Amino acid sequence: MSVRVGKTDKAAAFPVAAKTALKNDQLRANVRRATDTIRGKRALRVEEMPDWQKLRDAASAIKAHTLRHLDEYLVEFEKNCELVGGKVHWARDADEANAIAVKLIKEYGGTEVIKVKTMTSDEVQMNVALEAAGITPIETDLADMIVQMGHDEPSHIVVPALHKNRFEVRDLFRETMQKPELTEQPEELTGAARAYLRERFLKVKIGVSGANFAIAETGGVCVVESEGNGRMCLTMPDVLITLVGVEKVIPRFEDLEVFLQLLPRSATGERMNPYNSLWCGVHPSDGPKAFHVILLDNGRTNLLHDEMERETLECIRCGACLNACPVYRETGGHAYGSIYSGPIGAILSPQLQSLEHSRSLPYASTLCGACYEVCPVKINIPEILIHLRGRVVREEQATLGGKLAVENLAMQGAAIAFKSQRRYEAAQRLAQAGQALFREGDQLENLPGMAGGWTKYRDLRAIPKQSFRDWWKSRSNGGNA
Ligand code: SF4
Repeated sequence: MSVRVGKTDKAAAFPVAAKTALKNDQLRANVRRATDTIRGKRALRVEEMPDWQKLRDAASAIKAHTLRHLDEYLVEFEKNCELVGGKVHWARDADEANAIAVKLIKEYGGTEVIKVKTMTSDEVQMNVALEAAGITPIETDLADMIVQMGHDEPSHIVVPALHKNRFEVRDLFRETMQKPELTEQPEELTGAARAYLRERFLKVKIGVSGANFAIAETGGVCVVESEGNGRMCLTMPDVLITLVGVEKVIPRFEDLEVFLQLLPRSATGERMNPYNSLWCGVHPSDGPKAFHVILLDNGRTNLLHDEMERETLECIRCGACLNACPVYRETGGHAYGSIYSGPIGAILSPQLQSLEHSRSLPYASTLCGACYEVCPVKINIPEILIHLRGRVVREEQATLGGKLAVENLAMQGAAIAFKSQRRYEAAQRLAQAGQALFREGDQLENLPGMAGGWTKYRDLRAIPKQSFRDWWKSRSNGGNA
């Protein structure tokens, strides 16, 4: 089984990609403006909820319970979905999910599909697989459409084209839709997109969607969105194929009451999504006549055995942690090398797969805790980042030896020194004497070995002649330091 998360196999490691992103002033301005707007709206909507913390606790409890009993709830979902006319398929990885989708589309004689925003399909790179099989995927979410038209990659899990401003979108539409007269006015841009999509909604007979929730009790699925394209994709085609990560299952219909209050407020700062679509199986007089659900693992079940890693699967993909993260806000999403960017990407991608570049992602954080504060399901992202950093170090120690052995020895030496006041003071005196070689004024420069990595980019003050302890001692002895 091979697990992939978007185009990660071709991506540069985070430190390299982040450096490139930081040089792009336009990108940084676009990301900052967009995230500032969403954060402001979210804050207003959260403030008006007196029971916000209780809702977060409830959501976290529901998710934790579901994941502990995931095997039972998935089977219950399958049974209830098929009872009302749906068909459930199980996919171990991206290749299996894509093969099932291609086979189904061909069986129904489709050459085109309309798609409603689904990160899971980006995760398995379904568009690439469909195109390779001669099937044209048409993204209908405005931001996804912009990404697809520009042969770009999503940079945010809720607002995939967040890195583009309206002038860039205007230029893209002018070129791809052959509309040289278009201006950058939002009404004009959305009007052009609407006209372009409506034609396709009316003629394409197969829809592909993701799902925000799959409800075990009813066998139904739920998609929330703001543009109405989802409602069109879910109701107009004859055939609907829904790709769902296994972690999206929730036990009961009434659990939606909790999530549908948290998700829109956290994601877009709305009290409620304009479109909340729920569907169960098929009905002869309404909607698609065939309904298929592909339940995707793609590395998720590997996370179930460890309590802390399992917490990652509680994510409802609201994107609030991205908007709050000072690292994401500077680099944007592409630097993460995965369709899952920001804090959730930094913990999810390295756990779903074990590619070389993912090792740097747990370090793509200041550990300030802003992501934890805003997460509607209370995922303790900083704690998981530290846990993953520990795993990276242990894995590298096992394979690299040398460099890490030095780091390890240095840490063990520091631990011995910090354990006793006498040893600590002796080490301080030793460092004081040794620093003369590297001292430039009150700073230390060009330290040797691994410490040089610090002084190359950051300030490091020299150790003062008199330590705080010495000063305190002299003061309590009646001195006038
Ligand atoms: S980790 Fe939390 S804040 Fe981040 S996307 Fe997932 S649910 Fe939202």
